[in-house]
Amino acid sequence: MRKYSLPIIMLAIFEAVAITLWLTKHNIFYLFNFSYIGISIALGVFLFIKNYKHARRVVQLLVGLYMLVYLGLISQENMQIEGFWYYLFTGVFEAATIHYAVAKIFGPLIFGRGWCGYACWTAMVLDFLPYKTPQEPRKKIGFIRYITFAASLIFVAALFLAKVGNIERIMFWAFIIGNVLYYVTGIILAYAFKDNRAFCKYICPITVFLKPMSYFALIRIKCDKDKCISCGKCKRVCPMDVDVTDNSRKRENGTECILCMECTKNCPKKAL
Ligand code: SF4
Ligand code: SF4
Ligand code: SF4
Repeated sequence: MRKYSLPIIMLAIFEAVAITLWLTKHNIFYLFNFSYIGISIALGVFLFIKNYKHARRVVQLLVGLYMLVYLGLISQENMQIEGFWYYLFTGVFEAATIHYAVAKIFGPLIFGRGWCGYACWTAMVLDFLPYKTPQEPRKKIGFIRYITFAASLIFVAALFLAKVGNIERIMFWAFIIGNVLYYVTGIILAYAFKDNRAFCKYICPITVFLKPMSYFALIRIKCDKDKCISCGKCKRVCPMDVDVTDNSRKRENGTECILCMECTKNCPKKAL
């Protein structure tokens, strides 16, 4: 039973959020929403424990498609960063603000960048591309994330300052156009840099929240130094260039870990 403690803990966390929001916001949608996400994630972790090799992809598709198609396209909620700014400026703790608080701001204190490995609908598509492990050294262009972050903030602030009407409709179209831009840029970068996750490493504005918060993550991969033979395989298979053999929080690219478990699966000594 002990080996199933992680999926049980994950499910318990999401159920606690689901029930709390259902009762405090008097909206049963939150119960269904967070229960669905919690069950999908717990199922993925369970399949991983059972050594099913596509476990992570199952969760990615279950959660990513739900958020993109149901919440984004059908319910017309902008769950991208522009939607977060929009709800923040209107002072409403709904949809995107709750999503950001749970998945991208406070959640990473517990599960790091699990969002990036198991739920993001942008990475859900990028992970189908051929460069699952980077074929080239990392570039020093991560500063671009701050530009895209500022651009998203300025865009929404300008709509409010200019008192533009029907911002909600603009937000829906911003969601569609933003996603198309993300996918096109992500695919071009993946092929240009021979790295599926190039968009995540250099462009994604959400990493401005994710990286500092995941520095303190409770759940993280650790290396048993007594078993490790320094073969370097874990670093070679890591899609995010993390030096997972260093147990300190200052490990190289430590805030990039998406908990994909490729390193643990490939370690010949089961040191991770
Ligand atoms: S870095 Fe951005 S695009 Fe990549 S998985 Fe995380 S949230 Fe998605
Ligand atoms: S793959 Fe395992 S044994 Fe090899 S360096 Fe990484 S942790 Fe050590
Ligand atoms: S391979 Fe290991 S260190 Fe790299 S992102 Fe995946 S879980 Fe994190």
